[in-house]
Amino acid sequence: MTPDEFRTHGKALIDWIADYYEQIEQYPVLSQVAPGAVRAALPGAPPEQGEPFAALMADVERIILPGITHWQSPNFFAYFPANTSFPSILGELLSAGLGVQGMLWQTSPAVTELETHVLDWLVEMLGLPERFLSSGAGGGVIQDTASSAVLAAMLAARERTADRGPQTTDSRQPTKDGALAAVGGRRSQTSGPSAVGNDPRLRAYTSTQAHSSVAKAAGIAGVGRDNLRAVGVDEKFAMRPDELRRLIEADRAAGLRPFFVVASVGTTSSTAIDPLPEIGAICREFGLWLHVDAALAGTAALCPEFRHIHDGLELADSYAFNPHKWMFTNFDCNCFWVADRAALINALSILPDYLRNAATEAGAVIDYRDWHVQLGRRFRALKLWFVIRSFGVEGLRARVREHVRLAQLFAGWVAADPRFELAAPAPLNLVCFRLRQGGDAANRALLERLNASGKLYLTHTVLDGRYTLRLSIGGTLTEERHVRAAWEEMTNDE
Ligand SMILES: *Cc1c(COP(=O)(O)O)cnc(C)c1O
Repeated sequence: MTPDEFRTHGKALIDWIADYYEQIEQYPVLSQVAPGAVRAALPGAPPEQGEPFAALMADVERIILPGITHWQSPNFFAYFPANTSFPSILGELLSAGLGVQGMLWQTSPAVTELETHVLDWLVEMLGLPERFLSSGAGGGVIQDTASSAVLAAMLAARERTADRGPQTTDSRQPTKDGALAAVGGRRSQTSGPSAVGNDPRLRAYTSTQAHSSVAKAAGIAGVGRDNLRAVGVDEKFAMRPDELRRLIEADRAAGLRPFFVVASVGTTSSTAIDPLPEIGAICREFGLWLHVDAALAGTAALCPEFRHIHDGLELADSYAFNPHKWMFTNFDCNCFWVADRAALINALSILPDYLRNAATEAGAVIDYRDWHVQLGRRFRALKLWFVIRSFGVEGLRARVREHVRLAQLFAGWVAADPRFELAAPAPLNLVCFRLRQGGDAANRALLERLNASGKLYLTHTVLDGRYTLRLSIGGTLTEERHVRAAWEEMTNDE
């Protein structure tokens, strides 16, 4: 493809995307294709000769589009939003156009510096504790997902625990050169991880309602899924601090090493908000790392009236939220902050010869490759910067407020209808509800009827052992009329 052809096809593709958004309500929200249908329509072998771009787009419409579940539809109420916006799409396109690797400051200074800057902006935008600012010992980084953030936090916590000793079995190899790996870094090595080997006595804690990524991280980090304790919850599905304390004390008495707690601000099932002040105090008392997972709900803190969800966050060692859920930024974009970046960098830094450079050696720059698992990294700050600048903070707030208002409106309809009940508190933009009569079977049948209609899409969870419908409101295009239509669809012929 020549630059001229790119110009032509690129403009046509932008038109196609704009048309898609204008017509998005016409598609069935949940893809209705049968398993295997998409593959059956594809040729068995790749083409030997290049094909014209028009042929590609024709197949997108014929084969791909029917197999798309329309996440950006205003009638998408399933799981969580993975919303996006035109400024974000353009930022993503530009990032692809520049095609840079941001693994080191040196490999594209703007990738690193824009990222650090935007993450500092977000500290202020969300009213996060100042200890997360890069000007102090902390700082932020964009991870692909909240799952990677909790893994990075767990690895940093394990590193800090090992550093503190004294009872640790420290299998760390001595450093070969002792050089600083990056700002705040303590050491680097030409080979072998600086991170500690695993201590089988390590124990981690999170609530029974926490996201599955915490258990996954425990497995990957070598802590072991069995060594992640599930802390019980109260009637609002929030972690019980007394239960957390009881488990930690029992483990300590048994000679084990409690080291890490994940609190949720907005659980996936029901937006339960764990009590950070109490949990943070316990973590301080026993020297445990506190990671706060606010993957969806964190965005609400753009609005001062919702910032109470972060009460106690100043006691956290790390925090993450997903602009790729509710902040109009394309997947993938998770923002992750640590109060003390040294533990994170010590856990993940490794410097082979071929990455050596003067800026890194001088310790004058951030090298984000030391802040996550993988080496290479995309220029994701660009889309976030485009979103923040295009919407403005007030523009973002206005949309978040509207989503919360719509969820509260819907919750009010549910509460007022004798056929339905609310299944959990609805503090923000997610409503958990169910039919009172007919048990799980009736609720499952209702969900299936709604999704088969193609008019909307929602998913379920299980709360207190009961099948529960979830209406999650966060689509960039979702307006009151869509929520009203959803309610009408639920209540007609019920
Ligand atoms: C969605 C969600 C996650 C997982 O997010 P990914 O970015 O897809 O890894 C983790 N925790 C909570 C509370 C979530 O809601």
